[in-house]
Amino acid sequence: MNEFDETFDFIVVGSGAASMCAGLVMREAGRSVLIVEKTALIGGTTAKSGGVMWIPNNPFMKRDGIPDSPEQAMQYLESLIGDAAGQPGATRERRRAYVEQAPKMVEFLVRGGVKLNRAKYWPDYYDDLPGGSEAGRCVVAELFDVNELGTWRDKLRPGFLNFAARLEETFTLRSVKHSWSARFLALRVGLRTAISRLTGKRLVSSGAALQGRMLQAALKAGVQFSLDTAVHELVMTGDAVTGVAATKGGKPWRAGARLGVLVNAGGFARNQAMRDQYQPGTRVEWSNATEGDTGEMILEMQRLGAATAQMEEFVGFQTTMSPGAEEAYVKPPGQSLTAAPHAILVDQSGVRYQNEGGSYMAYCRGMLERHKTVPAVPSWAILDTQYLRNYMLGYSMPGVNKPASWTEQGYLRKADTIEALAAQLGIDPATLKATVERFNGFVAANNDEDFHRGARAYDRWLGDPHHKPSPTLGAIAEAPFYAVPMVPGDVGTYGGVVTDVAGRVLREDGSVITGLYAAGVSTAGVMGRFYAGAGASVGPAMTWGYISARHAAGVNS
Ligand SMILES: Cc1cc2nc3c(=O)[nH]c(=O)nc-3n(C[C@H](O)[C@H](O)[C@H](O)COP(=O)(O)OP(=O)(O)OC[C@H]3O[C@@H](n4cnc5c(N)ncnc54)[C@H](O)[C@@H]3O)c2cc1C
Repeated sequence: MNEFDETFDFIVVGSGAASMCAGLVMREAGRSVLIVEKTALIGGTTAKSGGVMWIPNNPFMKRDGIPDSPEQAMQYLESLIGDAAGQPGATRERRRAYVEQAPKMVEFLVRGGVKLNRAKYWPDYYDDLPGGSEAGRCVVAELFDVNELGTWRDKLRPGFLNFAARLEETFTLRSVKHSWSARFLALRVGLRTAISRLTGKRLVSSGAALQGRMLQAALKAGVQFSLDTAVHELVMTGDAVTGVAATKGGKPWRAGARLGVLVNAGGFARNQAMRDQYQPGTRVEWSNATEGDTGEMILEMQRLGAATAQMEEFVGFQTTMSPGAEEAYVKPPGQSLTAAPHAILVDQSGVRYQNEGGSYMAYCRGMLERHKTVPAVPSWAILDTQYLRNYMLGYSMPGVNKPASWTEQGYLRKADTIEALAAQLGIDPATLKATVERFNGFVAANNDEDFHRGARAYDRWLGDPHHKPSPTLGAIAEAPFYAVPMVPGDVGTYGGVVTDVAGRVLREDGSVITGLYAAGVSTAGVMGRFYAGAGASVGPAMTWGYISARHAAGVNS
C-alpha cells in the first residue's frame, strides 16, 4: 500500500504548455489539481518561447473570414506526413483528434478569460502543399502585464523579448532601415514600452504573455502549484500510476493522484548523453530549451514500459555562435540570416546543399543529413557587403562595423574576393566561386533552379519585403565578402513516449499504462518528423493538456 504525504485528484509533472490548460479543465470539473515544477519558475520553455500555437480552423480565422476547415487541415497534414510510417505520434487518428480538439481548446481558454488572437500573416511552413494556408493558422496571446500576477509575478519564467512588442511586430522591425512603416512601428513599440513602465506596468509578450495569462487564469480557478519540486518516480499501485515521488525543498515527498498523472516535463535538449544516443552531432550548448529540459521523466516512463518514438527529432533552429553566444538567454538566430538576400549557406566543401528558407526544423535536419557525406556542421553563411549593410547579423544591427572580437576570435571571416574568402575557410577557391556564380545566375533569372528558394510564400516572408524583385534572392556581388559559421541549434527535442488520442501513455504492445498521460515534447508529437507551421509544438502541447484532463475527469465532448 502506498502512503502519500498529500493526495489530489490530478497531478501534472512540469509547468509547460499543457499543464495549466489541464489544470483549468480539472477545476471546471470540480477536481483538485497540483502542478509540480522542479525549477523555481513556472512556464517551462513555453514561457521563453514565441508562444505561438498552430491551431487549424481556429475561431479567429473564422472571425476574420480566413478560409480553413478540418478537411483542409487534414489534407495539409496528410500531404506533409503521409501514412505516418515510423511516426506513431502522428497517426491519422491522432491528427484528426488534434484538428478537431485544438480549436475547442482555444474556445475553452477564451471563455475562461485568456486573451488570445490570431497572428495576421504567418504562412504555414509548407504553404505550397495541398491544404496549406498562406495567411497561416497561428494563435498568440495578447501582451500581458505581469504585475497583474501580484506576488506570483516573479515566479513566471521570463520571455525572450525585453520590450513590449508582439512577436509579429518584431518581424516588421527587421525592416527598420528601409521602411517608414517599420520606423513608425519602432516608435510605437518604444512608446508602448516607456508608457507601460511609467505607469507601473511590466508588459511581456510571446510565450511569457501566454504562460502569464495561463497562470493568472489557473490561480484564479484554484489550481495549486509546488515549485522547486523535482519528480523522480511515478508511483504505481498494482499496474496503475497513482502518484509521484519527488524531492521538495531538499526532502522526500510523495503525492497521490486519484485520477492520474500527466507528464508535461519537456524533452531532453539539456541532456548531452541522451542527445548523443538519439541525435548525434547536436550539442546542449546550441539549445535554447530551458535548464529543466533534462529528459528524466521520459526515462522514468520508459522504466514503466512506455514505448518511445521519433526520438531523433528535434526542433532545429539554425544559429550562429558569435563570441559570447553560449551565455546568451537565446542564441543568436540564424533563421532569417541565410534566407535574406545576398546570403547563401554552403557546406565545408563550398557547395550549396539546401533551400536557405523554409522550416527551421527541416533546415537543421538538412545540415545533419549533409554532414553524413560532406562535413557540414558547421556550415558557412556566405555574405556580401550589401548583406552586412542592410540586415542584422546575429544580434548585431545592420552595418559593416562589427565587434573586433568577432574577427580576432575567427568568428567573422572577411576577404576582398570570394577565392580569398574560400582560402580562409579551407575551401577550394574554384568551388566556392562556382557556387556563388551559379547562385548569382539564379538571382538574375529570379529562379533558384537548385532548391526553389523563394517559391513558397514562407521563404519570401523570411526575407526582406523591400528587396525587389525577390525578397529572398539577392546576388553575392559587393566586396568585401564575409562568412560566419552556422550550426544546427534548437528550441527543444521533438520525440518521446507514444500516446493515444486521449493522451494516455502506451506500451510497445499498444496497451495503456493506466493512470499515466503525457503531453508536449515529453511525447512523440502529432506532427511526426515535420514542423507544419509556427506553433507546431506549443499548439499540440496545449491541446493534449486539454484532451488528457477531460479524459481523466470523465468529461464528455
Ligand atoms: C526562443 C524560443 C522560441 C520558441 N517559439 C515557439 C513558438 O512560438 N511556438 C512553438 O510551438 N514552439 C516554440 N518553441 C519551442 C517550444 O517552446 C517548446 O517545444 C515547448 O514549449 C515545449 O513545451 P512543453 O510543454 O512540452 O515543455 P516545457 O514548456 O519546457 O515545460 C516543461 C517543464 O517541466 C519541468 N520539468 C522537467 N522535469 C521535471 C521533473 N522531473 N519534475 C518536475 N518538473 C519537471 C521543466 O522544468 C519545465 O518547466 C520555442 C522555443 C524557444 C526556446
